Amino acid sequence: MKKYFVWILILLILPLMIGCHARPTVTEESDTEPPPAEKREQTKEENSKKEQKKLLHQAKAFAQQYDYEKAITLLNESDTNKAKDIQEAMETYKNEKKELITWPDNSKIPHLFFHSLVVDESKAFDGDSMSKGYQDYMVTIDEFKKILKHLYERGYVLVDLDDIAKLDKKGNMVFQELRLPEGKKPLVLSQDDVSYYEYMKNDGFAKNLTIDDNGKVTNTYVNEEGQVVQGAYDLVPIVDDFVAKHPDFSYRGAKGIIALTGYNGVLGYQTSESGYGSNGDHPNPNIKEDQQQAKKVADKMKREGWTFASHSWGHLDVNKISLGLLKKDTSKWKEEVEPLVGPTDTIIFAFGSDIGSWHPYSNDKYNFLKDQGFDYYANVDASKDAWAQLGKQYFRQSRINVDGLRMKQAVNGENVVLEQFFDVEDVWDSSRPAAN
Ligand SMILES: [Zn+2]
Repeated sequence: MKKYFVWILILLILPLMIGCHARPTVTEESDTEPPPAEKREQTKEENSKKEQKKLLHQAKAFAQQYDYEKAITLLNESDTNKAKDIQEAMETYKNEKKELITWPDNSKIPHLFFHSLVVDESKAFDGDSMSKGYQDYMVTIDEFKKILKHLYERGYVLVDLDDIAKLDKKGNMVFQELRLPEGKKPLVLSQDDVSYYEYMKNDGFAKNLTIDDNGKVTNTYVNEEGQVVQGAYDLVPIVDDFVAKHPDFSYRGAKGIIALTGYNGVLGYQTSESGYGSNGDHPNPNIKEDQQQAKKVADKMKREGWTFASHSWGHLDVNKISLGLLKKDTSKWKEEVEPLVGPTDTIIFAFGSDIGSWHPYSNDKYNFLKDQGFDYYANVDASKDAWAQLGKQYFRQSRINVDGLRMKQAVNGENVVLEQFFDVEDVWDSSRPAAN
């Protein structure tokens, strides 16, 4: 009897002991145990709300830049496309898309271009031998910011050349359908000679284009105190900031074309092997690092909507030079600039020159450049608001120079082509010598 009692006691205590030992394990498990069904539903709902918010945000970004098709497709293909918010947004975008108007004539799209912007007028317009050139060919940062504001207020929207015309599968250049809301007008923007040439040093311009700690494209500038600072000291980051604030100023992310020579390097870096290599006149011991940095900046710019064009390697007048020199210069551009900014199908002629008259291109220089991959050509003509030519296999467009000379003509009433884009008197920088 006593024996049985002991056994019963053991049998009773044993599970308790196991229970004690097992307890921590049970507690641990309970932490990772799935939440009750109710809670599970709640988290699922929260996640899907978060997902929807993100999706709506992405779709809005496309729609703001007139890509309604992409916005609608994105929402429609999501798992939550039945949700009320998503349905409503799709409906809105479908209606806004219906309101778009096809731009009536792609040969009537203006193209404005600028040079490097003056940061410090007291240095650029200081009366030295370069001063007159800067007054004639440059605009100041203040002027440029005002110009952007006027352009935006007047309904202009930045487009790329391939939004206007593109090669089809057969290699023929064809106009593209460009659809914008009523009152919006397409505009091409370009900036020439973004090299921060050696001659501009200490004259009140940015030093280079670079990338800041936040991964944003910005400028390096040496201020009055000789301090090296970063910020929006030239056209590219200023336009980037403006589009970030006003996404509807850009058609599907388009920003502008950067036309580059090669002889002084690109984007403010001494990258030219012939100029700064070990056999060059001014060897740059950091040439490899500078090339890498220039490439990094260019890659980032391309992701942000910028494109690059050839401006000839040596800033040559294509009308005056021989075919032989054009060939030599083009191969130099391809050797020294293309590895940094990538291949380009666009040539923006230096000096506003051209390889032919207004008649369709058909000469040796054209045949050569076309063979080298150039499909888009740009000259300068400020006698009209816009001029373009759709060739069989190319697109040619005229650009209007926005600079001191053109603004002076506007103020004096000699050429008022700029007035449709901005109010020149309002933009005119008071630090410039009087126009008349
Ligand atoms: Zn130029």
